[in-house]
Amino acid sequence: RLLADQDSLTGLLNRRGFDLATPDFRVSPLPSGAVLICDIDHFKTVNDRFGHATGDRVIIALASLLRETLPANAKIARFGGEEFVAYVPNLPASQLAVLANMVRSAFAARSWSEGPFPVHITSSFGVSAIELGDHSIHDAISRADGFLYRAKEAGRNQVVQEGIAVLAANASHGLKVVAN
Ligand code: GH3
Ligand code: MG
Ligand code: MG
Repeated sequence: RLLADQDSLTGLLNRRGFDLATPDFRVSPLPSGAVLICDIDHFKTVNDRFGHATGDRVIIALASLLRETLPANAKIARFGGEEFVAYVPNLPASQLAVLANMVRSAFAARSWSEGPFPVHITSSFGVSAIELGDHSIHDAISRADGFLYRAKEAGRNQVVQEGIAVLAANASHGLKVVAN
């Protein structure tokens, strides 16, 4: 069962494991919490330049950062490729965005080169709350995916979270708050 529900590269949940570990909105009242989706930037280039084995190490490193940074009750999955999804129960989206931004900056700070020239790899994030009217957690994930797309469009290496514009002024470096 463990193997069927787990991603063998990172030890995180796989898609099936995530679906089994997250609340079923049809049988429980609307859960509170937020989701993030995360995707490594220009990962094709990483594989092309450094090889698939290094690519795998990069994926494992981001998985570890997510595990270390998100609360213990977070359900974290690799949804295939270099894309991760997490559900954190009972946490406002604004707080999840701050945690996502910590992962983003720690990942970007790491150098992947043994030589004199540092090589940095970055990641982009979308964050959304679970909202009234969501039929499944995938509704929240697909909203977060829209914000991830905006993070990519806006230049990558950033977290985009839906929220009220007034918060945008307080957003820290790398974290953007956009109206839905
Ligand atoms: P973007 O910044 O827009 O996300 O660009 P990208 O190059 O990261 O996006 P794209 O989805 O085109 O590329 C993802 C690449 O991830 C393609 C594939 O070669 C690689 N990949 C998928 N799964 C794995 C894996 O398990 N290990 C390794 N090393 N590479 C993988
Ligand atoms: Mg990518
Ligand atoms: Mg991708």
